[in-house]
Amino acid sequence: MEDSGFIGDPRRIRVLAGVAEALVALADAGYERIVVTNQSGVARGLFGEPDVVNVNRALADELAVRGATLDAFYYCTHLDSCTCRKPLPGMIHAAVAERDVDLARSVVFGDRGSDIALAHAVGIPGILVNELPNYDGPEPLYRARTFADGVRFFLEHVVAR
Ligand SMILES: [Zn+2]
Repeated sequence: MEDSGFIGDPRRIRVLAGVAEALVALADAGYERIVVTNQSGVARGLFGEPDVVNVNRALADELAVRGATLDAFYYCTHLDSCTCRKPLPGMIHAAVAERDVDLARSVVFGDRGSDIALAHAVGIPGILVNELPNYDGPEPLYRARTFADGVRFFLEHVVAR
């Protein structure tokens, strides 16, 4: 979705063009679609955990209207002193432990250096959906123009390989 900073209000969700279709392509290829998100706005007192749940639900609903589904949400509400805030891999470890996920065949899509560092922390490909010239995070496997572009690259050049 559009990056609008700390988001505790479901009405501020804007799903970007092509995202739903790309999620459907991943589902068709047999991939679970799991959201792992840092929500330190809770630790900062900007909003509560119920707001995070509401935002997640609204995002899922927004995607459902376009025929796409998400399989799970993992979120970190902390600011520090936890093992789940990206780039720490706690949320991925939880997803692997709780769901039927094959980590070796998984991939992280994200728009920040912490997302790519997360991928590297668990030894899987990281695809950056961010073409900004000021990106200074770890080197991703691929820099995508859009989420759909990243998914296309992953399915054609990583999965098919
Ligand atoms: Zn945490």
